[in-house]
Amino acid sequence: MDLRVLPSVDEIIADQGLQDILNHYHRPVVVTCIRSEIDEYRRKLKLIPEQLTREEIRQCVVDGVSNRLMVWSRGSLIKVINASGVILHTNLGRAVLAPETADRIKSIAESYTNLEFDLENGTRGSRYSHVEPLLTGLLGCEAALVVNNNAAAVLLALNTLALGKEVIVSRGQLVEIGGSFRIPEIMKLSGANLIEVGTTNKTYSRDYEDAVSDNTALLLAVHTSNYRILGFTYETSLEDLVTLGKRVDMPVMYDLGSGTMIDGGKWGLEPEVTVQECLASGIDIVTFSGDKLLGGPQAGIIAGKRKYVDKMKKNQLLRALRVDKLTIAALEATLSCYLTQSPEDRIPVLKMLGRDPGELKAEASRLAEALNRSKGNHIINIEVVETIDKVGGGAYPLQELPGYAVTITTDHAEKLVDKLRRGNPSVLVRIKEGVIALSVRTLLAGEIELLPALIYRYLEEAAS
Ligand SMILES: *Cc1c(COP(=O)(O)O)cnc(C)c1O
Repeated sequence: MDLRVLPSVDEIIADQGLQDILNHYHRPVVVTCIRSEIDEYRRKLKLIPEQLTREEIRQCVVDGVSNRLMVWSRGSLIKVINASGVILHTNLGRAVLAPETADRIKSIAESYTNLEFDLENGTRGSRYSHVEPLLTGLLGCEAALVVNNNAAAVLLALNTLALGKEVIVSRGQLVEIGGSFRIPEIMKLSGANLIEVGTTNKTYSRDYEDAVSDNTALLLAVHTSNYRILGFTYETSLEDLVTLGKRVDMPVMYDLGSGTMIDGGKWGLEPEVTVQECLASGIDIVTFSGDKLLGGPQAGIIAGKRKYVDKMKKNQLLRALRVDKLTIAALEATLSCYLTQSPEDRIPVLKMLGRDPGELKAEASRLAEALNRSKGNHIINIEVVETIDKVGGGAYPLQELPGYAVTITTDHAEKLVDKLRRGNPSVLVRIKEGVIALSVRTLLAGEIELLPALIYRYLEEAAS
């Protein structure tokens, strides 16, 4: 089609429909948007056979500019209502923080702080001094350090303890987490040399021992967070690794991944070693995430023996991996919940883990009733069903959490799911064999009340 119908930038700027936009937004940004909208039409026009008038294209470009600026102003990062039943959904930003944690972030964000200022002595302080006493107190270890995330924690630990040296790891523990964290790659980046020992399914203490040489700097165990090797298997126990480490005079590190400070047994979860137990067993260094089972902000926590943590504090790499004041505020607020007898009353991740099925059933019934009340003449079927929720976030991969969901059966299921996902707030549901399921475990306060209006609005659109 003839590209001469494309309006010019000046024509768009002069358009009546653009005047409000020009009055509000920074002009060069508006011009950039106009250019890219016109470019988009140039590409589109080459592909479509039908004739569009200059006027039609002008209107579309103006609408496109307005829409683009609206989305940029609003932000691309928006709220998602998580009805998937996966508590730690990495794609949904992992742990939801407690309201009191959010309050702490807000108050620190809006003021100056003593981030690197020692208020006692009026001298320069360290950002690492804030959470360290709390962490060591809670975990029962000598020292602790917080960095950007657990990948950074592993990188810093390996680079500090094993640069140019060998690190021994079991072949059964060469994990990949979420596509981008891979033990062999992190090892390479850290400047340490990976020495694989044992086999995928069996690695004995003697396999580690046979690999120890003058060049060895560290024995590393990695939690197989998101998979399990089942059947004919043998994994060297932490106790045996610690014993071996002592015998060959080598530090032992454990990348715990999720890391939990509470024994999940009290909610019927599979047995899982806690961070405290790990440290008590004599492991020299553990690393774990702040935003997995701990239920806090994105962060990587390094805990263990002072002599190793102190070396990490002196590593220049730390400057590139450091956390900001908002993370420190959020982590302190989260950790302070663990000072109390029942942190599960205050930390959303733990609350969701421990939810009583009876309570979930009542909540699902409440949602189903609300949906039935506003059903009007929509032809849909609403039911409360038992479901299986998941921990997610690379923790407890096999654990099934018995929960409840509300199912919606409609002819327009696929379209509805699509519209719910693309809305604002976005709503993430599960769909199986054409039936939509909304798990109530991961719904937050007030969200059940929001859902009926959203669902029927989109259903209306989907059906028309
Ligand atoms: C999740 C995980 C990581 C990466 O942690 P991030 O906080 O996402 O950087 C590393 N190792 C293990 C074993 C994990 O489970």
